[in-house]
Amino acid sequence: MSTRQFFVGGNWKLNPTSVGKAKELVEVLNKAELDPNTEVVISPPSLYLIPVRDAVSNKQITISAQNAYYKENGAFTGEISSSQIKEAGIPYVILGHSERRTIFHETNEVVALKTRAALDAGLKVILCIGETLVQREGGETTKVCEGQLSAVVKQTKPEDWSNIVIAYEPVWAIGTGKVATTAQAQETHVDVRAYLSTAVSTTVASETRVIYGGSVNSGNAKDLAGQQDIDGFLVGGASLKPEFVDIINARK
Ligand code: PGA
Repeated sequence: MSTRQFFVGGNWKLNPTSVGKAKELVEVLNKAELDPNTEVVISPPSLYLIPVRDAVSNKQITISAQNAYYKENGAFTGEISSSQIKEAGIPYVILGHSERRTIFHETNEVVALKTRAALDAGLKVILCIGETLVQREGGETTKVCEGQLSAVVKQTKPEDWSNIVIAYEPVWAIGTGKVATTAQAQETHVDVRAYLSTAVSTTVASETRVIYGGSVNSGNAKDLAGQQDIDGFLVGGASLKPEFVDIINARK
């Protein structure tokens, strides 16, 4: 196993439907016995960031926003900025999630600008990449992931990567119940590291955490977590259920 710290993020997306239910989810985690070696990050909708931050009593758990705009302020109705998130005591932001890329038409360049702005504001970034089913079947997985990463490489310096966690999330595996096989995930993670090694440095390639996302649950987490290059998970649906604790403890 590598020395990279195991990382498990819970991406709540646009859930749950009330702040009371959000606090109930936090309560489950506050009371749970979590593997002390796992970094745990939960990502509620923006309106719940502050109440969830206040409800977390387990110091091992930190919070992430799900998105941030790349401008600090101004006429951008509906947006929130990285510096506002930072000021609220939220250390992480998820950027480039496939739902942002697909539904909200975020390009690789926009995701890269957002990454730059988040790092400048002092946030850590969970940077999501991944291919669609058509792209995988067309043999384009590596090319697509490299394109998504190269836009970010252009906006960053090698030292920025210590504040970036890459989440490889094949789009066809997100919310579908169709998890990538351990071999498919491991193989792409190796490709991501190979790309970082050429495009940034061998140190960044070996030290950056590359986590997997897409239909992770308590049943498949242990196998995936046993792979050499899988440093954790970004979990959607299962992060809203008690089994999230088992996923956090997948290496225990
Ligand atoms: P899922 O979502 O675990 O529900 O597939 C993962 C994600 O979108 O981050």
